[in-house]
Amino acid sequence: MRLLLIEDEKKVADFVARGLRAERFAVDVAADGPAALQTLAACAYDLIILDLMLPGLSGSEILKRLRRDRSEVPVIILTARDAMAEKVAHFEAGADDYLTKPFAFAELLVRVKALLRRGPVNRASVLRVGDLELDRLSQQVKRAGKRIDLTAKEYALLEYLVANPGRVYSRTMIIEHVWDQSFEGLTNIVDVYVRHLRAKVDDPFPTKLIRTVRGVGYSVDGGPDA
Ligand code: CA
Repeated sequence: MRLLLIEDEKKVADFVARGLRAERFAVDVAADGPAALQTLAACAYDLIILDLMLPGLSGSEILKRLRRDRSEVPVIILTARDAMAEKVAHFEAGADDYLTKPFAFAELLVRVKALLRRGPVNRASVLRVGDLELDRLSQQVKRAGKRIDLTAKEYALLEYLVANPGRVYSRTMIIEHVWDQSFEGLTNIVDVYVRHLRAKVDDPFPTKLIRTVRGVGYSVDGGPDA
C-alpha cells in the first residue's frame, strides 16, 4: 500500500512517515501544496493523509481538486483546527476521516487501516444504472426521465443496491446497511421492501433492473447492454 503524507511541519511528517514505514507502508511526503499536486499527478496512492495549513495551496483546496478530478482515494485530514463547522465542511468536500493534532500515532494507524480495509467508495453524486438515475443530494429518483416517489427506506435500499451495480447483496448485508442496529425483525423485511421498490421502479418499465439471486439476495443490474 502506498500512502502520501502531505504535511509541512517536518517534525510531524518525519514522525508519521517513520511510524507508517515501520508498519510496512510505502510513504511519500509532500511538504507544500504545489509539491503535493505534482506528486499526485505522477503517482497513484491508496490513501492520503492531508494537513490543512500548507504553504502554496491549502489542504482544503487539494481535497477539492482531488474530488473534482473524480479521485476516489481515501483522505484523512490531520489538523490543529477542531471547529465542528470546519469538520463538517471537509467531510462534505469528500474527506473520509478527520484527526485533530495533537494525536497519538496509534490512533492514526487504526484509522488508516480501517479506511484501507473499506476499499474504494462510489462518491458520485448521481448514480445511474440503465435508464435509472438517483441524485444523492436531492434524493430524487428518475427512470426514463420520469420522477419516481420513494419513501425514505425505499430510497436508502435502492441507493445501497445501485452504488455497486451487479454486486449481489445478502439480506443480512442489506439489513445492516439500510436498517439500524436496533432492528430485530425478520430478514423478510428486505423482501417486502424489494417488492415495494419493484412496483415503483421496475413494474412500469419493460427492462427489469432489480434481480433476485436465488439463495443469496438481491442485485441491481442494467443488463448486458447497460
Ligand atoms: Ca501545516
